[in-house]
Amino acid sequence: MQERKKLGYFDSCNYTPEELIVAANLIPVRLFGSRTETPTLVDTYVQSHFCPFARSCLDLALKGYYANFTGFVISHGCDVTNQFYDIWKKHVNPKFLYYFHIPLITEGETAKRFFVKELAHFKSSLEEFVGNEITQDDLRRGIELCNETREWLRKISELRRKDPPLITGAELHGLVRMSQITVKEEVNKVLRQKYNELSNCTPMGNRNPRILLSGSIIDDSTLIQFFEGLGVSVVADDLCVGTRYFWTSTELTQNPLHDIATRYLTKPILSAKVPRAKRLKYIRTLINRYQIDGVMLHQLKFCDSYHIDNVTIHEVLKEAEIPVLVLETSYTMSGMGQLRTRVEAFIELLQKIEH
Ligand code: SF4
Repeated sequence: MQERKKLGYFDSCNYTPEELIVAANLIPVRLFGSRTETPTLVDTYVQSHFCPFARSCLDLALKGYYANFTGFVISHGCDVTNQFYDIWKKHVNPKFLYYFHIPLITEGETAKRFFVKELAHFKSSLEEFVGNEITQDDLRRGIELCNETREWLRKISELRRKDPPLITGAELHGLVRMSQITVKEEVNKVLRQKYNELSNCTPMGNRNPRILLSGSIIDDSTLIQFFEGLGVSVVADDLCVGTRYFWTSTELTQNPLHDIATRYLTKPILSAKVPRAKRLKYIRTLINRYQIDGVMLHQLKFCDSYHIDNVTIHEVLKEAEIPVLVLETSYTMSGMGQLRTRVEAFIELLQKIEH
């Protein structure tokens, strides 16, 4: 059997339809940056006051880190991902580069029609690129494999509802990260095994304040590990390397492209999509479902869309008397001392409220 090639996707959330890439017999691999590699080549094309995640991904591409990828997809998301397409086209110049259009407004018939049309266009571009037709059976296989990944992740995430949780936030984050960069068949085996191991455990250890972590991308589990090391349990998240990736599955009918469109338009949104009330509603659902003591709103430096959206979320949660901590990180591990002080003060506050 011919070895499957990797198709990278640069996405500010999870809108690239992995199902279609799997159906084209390619491996969808989400691009993550590096917190340890100092960006250098990217400085020629993008100023330093741009999203550090996007800058890092581009820097790695310019340095040849993705040389073994057969092509890339850049999905419409925030302003940064949208603008980066042209830079990738001109300066990375891969043999396949597709800009995946996603409606800004994620509700209504127009959005649905638009999305289905875009999926059909993406499908034919992939067919032309790989030189094979993507059949209805291929689409069903792609949907089923991606659904299985999401189902296992949902089941594992549910183990965080126990008190204390059966899995740490950092460990769950690591599993989601792996799911976005690894062949689905392999991921599904690992996740099944992990779920079977964990579901037989009993909750152990002290009860820490139960935290919902929401906001800009966190693509490295060490940040969550750092928070948890200070004495909180991240038992729920509204992150793209988190529940937003697996909260919903695709319901298969006779029309797979419609089914995929429905799923992507009803999944939890990133801050740059509208209606914005959808994100708040999702956060409220998580707070109730996971018995949250406090919310940490994370924003990456220069990530305008979360900086703006978090203001409203913060105000609404404060009015509802839900403790909130807004945190900004710089994508590197610098500034951790200040972060530590703020998280520790927040933990103290949560402990006072509890007693
Ligand atoms: S971190 Fe913010 S600015 Fe960067 S890609 Fe994500 S949404 Fe866009």
